Amino acid sequence: MLKLTEISGVGKITFEKLKNHSIYSIEDLLYAFPKKYKINKLDSLDKAKLNQETSLTVKVNGKPKIYFIRKNLTKLTFKALSGKKIFNVTIFNRHFLSKSLFINQNVVITGKFKNNFDNFTASDLVLKKNYQEGIIPIYNLGYIPEGRVKKIINNTLNLSYRLEETTPKYLLEKHKLPEINTIITSIHKPKSKTDLAKALYRLKYDELLNFSLRIELINEYNNNTRTELKKYNISLVREFINSLPFELTQDQKQATNEIFKDLKSTKQMNRLLQGDVGSGKTIVALLAALAIVSADYQVAIMAPTLVLAKQHFLVFKNYLHDFGINIALLTSEVNPKKRVEIINEIENQNVNIIIGTHALIQTDLNYQKLGLVIIDEQHRFGVEQRKILREKGLNPDILLMSATPIPRSLAISIFESSDISQIKEKPAGRQTVKTEIVNLENLNYIYSAINKELEKNHQIYFICPLINESDNNNYYSVNETYNLLLQHFDEKILSYLHGKMTDEEKTKVLDDFYSNKTKILISTTVIEVGIDVEKASMMVIMNANAFGLAQLHQLRGRIGRNNLQSYCYLAVDEENEQKERINILKNHYDGFEISEMDLKLRGPGEVFGKNQAGIPNFNYANIIEDKQLLSITKADAKALIRNNDYQAKKFTEKIIKTLDSYNLD
Ligand code: ADP
Ligand code: MG
Repeated sequence: MLKLTEISGVGKITFEKLKNHSIYSIEDLLYAFPKKYKINKLDSLDKAKLNQETSLTVKVNGKPKIYFIRKNLTKLTFKALSGKKIFNVTIFNRHFLSKSLFINQNVVITGKFKNNFDNFTASDLVLKKNYQEGIIPIYNLGYIPEGRVKKIINNTLNLSYRLEETTPKYLLEKHKLPEINTIITSIHKPKSKTDLAKALYRLKYDELLNFSLRIELINEYNNNTRTELKKYNISLVREFINSLPFELTQDQKQATNEIFKDLKSTKQMNRLLQGDVGSGKTIVALLAALAIVSADYQVAIMAPTLVLAKQHFLVFKNYLHDFGINIALLTSEVNPKKRVEIINEIENQNVNIIIGTHALIQTDLNYQKLGLVIIDEQHRFGVEQRKILREKGLNPDILLMSATPIPRSLAISIFESSDISQIKEKPAGRQTVKTEIVNLENLNYIYSAINKELEKNHQIYFICPLINESDNNNYYSVNETYNLLLQHFDEKILSYLHGKMTDEEKTKVLDDFYSNKTKILISTTVIEVGIDVEKASMMVIMNANAFGLAQLHQLRGRIGRNNLQSYCYLAVDEENEQKERINILKNHYDGFEISEMDLKLRGPGEVFGKNQAGIPNFNYANIIEDKQLLSITKADAKALIRNNDYQAKKFTEKIIKTLDSYNLD
């Protein structure tokens, strides 16, 4: 077999660079698909429409001007001529192009006419002589120039090296899918859009088949674990519900019923409780905890952050203080001596409910009789951490909670749980958070809105994408925003928070904010999950385009948690291309809808983080848009598992290897 270095164009240096992209062999190289394609097609000016992307050949008709707007934001403008028409072209952050833009030079501009045909905003600009029409693969292999990558790939394709087919042949035939070597050529050198579309369809199919197989295997192995029968005191739970200052919503009641049905059976509960921020999941979890304690078992509640763990602790204590239930908080803040005490109490079953962070899964912590594990914002924990906690009891029942509602198939893959309860309706009396998009250039508008809230003794969050300024982008940092706000507001009412602070510092900042001592909290997304501050009625999200929709919605969920009219300002640069995406939040308040849209736009890897087990790495398929193909692959996956032929088995084994959180022997 030929080695990579034997391919013409791959010298020593290129070989090293390829290794940085995990390309070690010819096979790897053939599978190094373009990151994207550019369809280069020139349009004519008379066919151009407002707000529609188009590529035009124009002549530079005036000396370019450069504006330095602020750090890392520049604007270049010049007059362009097409036929007889002259118009302005604007392009951001390409001031360096001005050197090569001579009068009368032919260039191709790609972008949009925004409000009229006199002003064109370009996203790309190349000299006409460097422009090539057709479907152009873009590899983006870091420091290896595109031209070199294309040459190497071309040389490799010419070798007629045959790759082994990985998907069972009869499935390919059934769906008339091209075999692997055919698509490799189409992917690297697409002849036409249809050619490329066929190849992409096959790649989507493969991804979704893998995904479906994983789900089927989880389902198959999920239903077999038993737990001890727990005899809980239902009248105690009823009494508690009646003592609540509010009535449970219909969805809360239903979720509670579903959970209790699980608790009653000897099949191990593995349920996911999904509900939008503020929908009232905590109280449902608390009911389950109360039941389990009444059956004389212990409950462990694990939260991803110290703040959230503390908050749960306070809520649980507050609700359960009359019930003679001992609740302990175990976090990194607890000093070693106290920690030993708590651990002893847990071992002696003097503590009924243990609330904490990762501290709950440390090796020297042994639960006496762990009957229920509740994991909040559970996608923030790795599979391994979840597994350790599970194994600390004798197959305890498991309740997972998530505020990012997701489609069922995805939930099964990520949470390994096919039982899902959803809380869709919000408790009565909640007002929608008035959401507005504002220009970062116009912060004065926000300052006056803040002053109005301050007069009412309300509080304000500022969320920034960064802790400190960065050279890579022009986003506002916590640091910069704090200094900015210092010029407008009294230092005494300002505070800031981010993940690099010590737990002690964070606690102090949050305590001051909780108690309404400070009024404006400037923070990174560390406040994203769970924080509940009564008087907080406004949130300003700086460079909102830096965040995903689901995340923005989650952040917004920190306000509007009671009957105060609340306001959310999504601040973006005037010219930001993401404005349209962000605008979705202005008209949508349903977390389910928003997360679907986010998944459609960005895919699960971006929404939930790529490095977690169970989060499918779809490069081609889209879990929302390709629903139909997904149902096809689901049926195929079922058949594959039933089918015992050699090829099917080999394929299934490959998937099983990735299901490391299960003992599948
Ligand atoms: P989340 O789903 O985000 O965890 P919480 O459980 O923290 O939501 O609930 C948000 C707020 O709503 C809490 O202050 C809680 O006491 C309150 N709440 C929960 N259920 C109801 C209800 N049925 N009616 C009124 N308020 C409720
Ligand atoms: Mg919560």
